[in-house]
Amino acid sequence: MKGVDRFLIPRPRGELRYRCILCEGAFPLDRFLYTCPLCGGLLRIEDLRFEELKEVSPEGWREVFDRRRFLGVEVLKGIFLFHELILPTVPLEDVIYLGEGHTPMVRANEELSQWVGVPFLLKYDGLNPSLSFKDRGMASAVSFINYMIRHKGLEEVLGICASTGDTSAAAALYLSYLPKERVRSVVLLPEGRVTPAQLSQPLGSGATVIEVPGVFDDCMKIVEELAERYEVCLLNSKNPLRIQGQKSYSYEVAQQLGWDTRSLVVVVPIGNAGNVTAIMEGFLDLYRLGLIEELPTVLGVQSEHANPLVLWRRTGQYRPVKVRPSVAQAAMIGNPVSFPKVAQLVEQHYGDRFVVVEVSESEIMEGMLMANRHGHVVCTQGGEAVAGLRKALAEGLLRPEGRFVVKSTAHHLKFAGFQQMYFEDAFPPEYGIRPKDELKNRPVKLPASAQEIARFLGLKPKG
Ligand SMILES: *Cc1c(COP(=O)(O)O)cnc(C)c1O
Ligand SMILES: [Zn+2]
Repeated sequence: MKGVDRFLIPRPRGELRYRCILCEGAFPLDRFLYTCPLCGGLLRIEDLRFEELKEVSPEGWREVFDRRRFLGVEVLKGIFLFHELILPTVPLEDVIYLGEGHTPMVRANEELSQWVGVPFLLKYDGLNPSLSFKDRGMASAVSFINYMIRHKGLEEVLGICASTGDTSAAAALYLSYLPKERVRSVVLLPEGRVTPAQLSQPLGSGATVIEVPGVFDDCMKIVEELAERYEVCLLNSKNPLRIQGQKSYSYEVAQQLGWDTRSLVVVVPIGNAGNVTAIMEGFLDLYRLGLIEELPTVLGVQSEHANPLVLWRRTGQYRPVKVRPSVAQAAMIGNPVSFPKVAQLVEQHYGDRFVVVEVSESEIMEGMLMANRHGHVVCTQGGEAVAGLRKALAEGLLRPEGRFVVKSTAHHLKFAGFQQMYFEDAFPPEYGIRPKDELKNRPVKLPASAQEIARFLGLKPKG
């Protein structure tokens, strides 16, 4: 075999450990851990043999990752194309692939680019199987559960998560692929705070759906307590197995840009901050291996109604906030669990390359509606990201040079109710949204008559 051929099909390798981000304690990956047993800090997953990957040159790895796309090996069609960087100890035969990853990047047209202020690309993570990027992290976490069942004698698992809607859809979907006699799936939702489409998803996948009063942060506290005191597998992004899979977003962005990330800005909405953590860690992996020359700038976007990271960047002090209703409901989180990871990544690696901007609820809706009126299918959180890019440029937080990739985190249809409320001027006052007439659209009722419809449209007769 010549060159990199022997690396094309990944084999189990590496040595994975949980590593505490505070006390650096290391723990074997033979059980589910979410916080450090010594000090309570958050955990990362670290490959003690990461340096061995440098045995292959950066050009070699680029070739391997590029060629894997065309091998026709099913499990390499998803996030495990980047097996070495996700969970390299898990054999391919244990990988669960349900169609996630490799989402398209679509160029914004001239009109939309002008409205935003720069040409940009939208990466559609709403085209994952459960219609959000959460599938990336579930593919890794649930593949690991499968591996523990098949190879490590794990007999029973109860997977549980708190959710603003999309985590539960993804968890329920991926867990439903595993054997029912071994695996149960339970989701906790804040009652009335997920959309009907999102509620239908875990129900359809057969999960036990528990609705509790309050907001996401309240649900999160409960599942954290359950995970601490009972034998359950927590599937929120506090579980570092989730972060491993979500890093694939960065690998794909780099690959889709031909591994050239110079002057790149990636734009993401921030809720619980697992997403932005994974994105920063993902680019860092590539940077360490020499696959990219430069870390990108990361622009995080938050609503005025759920803005703890905005306040942290502004004041230097982190404090949880009490959230108010937001159309970017999937990011409506006042005390992001992964904040300590973000703070550390910024301090140690990203510095001024991490920028946060705040947008109003009206700006989020306008960002979404404008994107969708110009050929896109973007959710409210994607709209938040589009609006955030526009605002950061207008406020001079970013210079209009370089390349811009905006993440649309879920599918528009999960959040279509907010569009409906906008078109019907039906937002309760707490949202603070005053719809603009020119962005509204309503169906028109006309008689079933070609003539009437032609008259309404002002059509000119032929000839
Ligand atoms: C979960 C989610 C977010 C926020 O991601 P975090 O990792 O919680 O910061 C944004 N948009 C959508 C659609 C989501 O489902
Ligand atoms: Zn610790």
